[in-house]
Amino acid sequence: MAEGASDTDLASDISYLRKTWEHLLEQSRKVPPPSLLYQDLSLSQRVLRDFVGEETTSIQIDSRENFLKLSEFAESYTPSVIPKLMHYTGERPLFDLHGIETEIEKALGKRVDLKSGGYLVIEQTEAMTTIDVNTGSYVNGRNFDDTIFKTNLEAAHAIARQLRLRNLGGIIILDFIDMENLEHRAAVLAELHKALARDRTKVTVSDFSALGLVEMTRKRTRESLAHILCEICPACHGKGQVKTARTIAYEILRELLREAKQFNPREFRILASQLVIDLFLEEESQHLTMLGDFIGKPISLQVENGFHQEQYDIILM
Ligand SMILES: [Zn+2]
Repeated sequence: MAEGASDTDLASDISYLRKTWEHLLEQSRKVPPPSLLYQDLSLSQRVLRDFVGEETTSIQIDSRENFLKLSEFAESYTPSVIPKLMHYTGERPLFDLHGIETEIEKALGKRVDLKSGGYLVIEQTEAMTTIDVNTGSYVNGRNFDDTIFKTNLEAAHAIARQLRLRNLGGIIILDFIDMENLEHRAAVLAELHKALARDRTKVTVSDFSALGLVEMTRKRTRESLAHILCEICPACHGKGQVKTARTIAYEILRELLREAKQFNPREFRILASQLVIDLFLEEESQHLTMLGDFIGKPISLQVENGFHQEQYDIILM
């Protein structure tokens, strides 16, 4: 509590604390007590427990300490992986050696290329994930149906892999390339089911809907890869678009006019990104001069390198 806070502040603080406490109590009644086995597992221990399967050939660990810890853990809980544990002592960092950075970049990108030349576009929103299957640019007219069928089959596998890789959960809408042939549709669904069978997470898959979409759900376990590794873009706040430098320039002019009506400084200074300042110096210089004349005050410009395109400040000097 800040010094000199009033009684009303104190009362509202207490009421807030009480509410929080009641909420926590309620939550604690809902959550079953944790089992001891799962407490305090490190990230690498959880990887051993959750991700290592028969298809895993080796687990390379570049820290001796961690290697010893994991060996000990494996002896008690996952003895089958002991022969797969390897202490990596090479010069090159493990991530470089196996191109992990590149894989992560790919796993965060919207587009996933298929060998056949087609590709997936994966869009993750708050409510759901949509995956759009596309053919490559070149589709031979004679084998049109065949190409589409093959692309969809390949896509079914790629989708199952991407769902695991990105750990996408919740509602997922699949938009395969349209297929007239009912047998082809059934085969693509069967392929999808087959590919999803490797998934340790619970999934449900619908039939093709009237619009030709396949709806599926995948149980949310941990956060998705994108949620773990990324944050909302500070420039566009997740919209995926930013206002153009020109739009910002006009916004600044209007804001400056508003401020000139309210305040009476010696001078106004515009702080903005390089692109916006460049506009004021070149194509929009006339507008700036006109505004300066109108308000009868000098307007100076300053590039703020840390600012993103939509960011600006008007300083009263
Ligand atoms: Zn953005």
